[in-house]
Amino acid sequence: MEHVISGVAKFQKEVFPTKQARFSELADGQSPEVLFITCADSRIDPNLVTQTEPGELFICRNAGNVVPPHSSQTGGMTASIEFAVAALGISHIVVCGHTDCGAMKGAIHPENLDSLPHVKEWLGHCRSATEVVRDRHGSLCKDHLDEVTGENVIQQMQHLRTHPSVAAGLASGRITLHGWVYNIGSGEVLCLDEETREFTPMDEAYRAKFGELPAAVTGEACGS
Ligand code: ZN
Repeated sequence: MEHVISGVAKFQKEVFPTKQARFSELADGQSPEVLFITCADSRIDPNLVTQTEPGELFICRNAGNVVPPHSSQTGGMTASIEFAVAALGISHIVVCGHTDCGAMKGAIHPENLDSLPHVKEWLGHCRSATEVVRDRHGSLCKDHLDEVTGENVIQQMQHLRTHPSVAAGLASGRITLHGWVYNIGSGEVLCLDEETREFTPMDEAYRAKFGELPAAVTGEACGS
């Protein structure tokens, strides 16, 4: 913990002064363009991976980058999504899964989660993902981890669409959804093509829209 405490001191002394103007702007409000939903896993740093600064990403994190389907019950994700979309007016939502996700391993083997009843219940929101993969192969095991991870991103995007503010934003074209999987070991980000349900390297996925990316990352596409 000591390095965390000393890190705050270092931030205040060395980093904050270099970005004083930006922090002064942010002191009175935020207008992020992107709602970034990802796993709570310590190995993911959304601002580092996207090379963005404070104020640019509205970040919601939990085990498994889960978006519970909309219901009459209020939860942290539901409230945060509503705030980001309806109050802040974000225009893009990224659901970002990742490799080696402990939550996905738990979703594949829920029988190992009896000592973690809340985790087990929470990962019930990933069952549609595991069932899709189980149905595809006739069985489900740890070898399907990458596939479940991608399918979970797809299913959580489906859940997002059930939230009224998101549904309204999608209907009017104000909001665009993005499904990503971040590879912790390689730094690669794969992006969902919703038509094919396959994940392709980021430079391929966005080339048509944004042209050649300056630091294109390439690699094998995954998916079924
Ligand atoms: Zn995870």
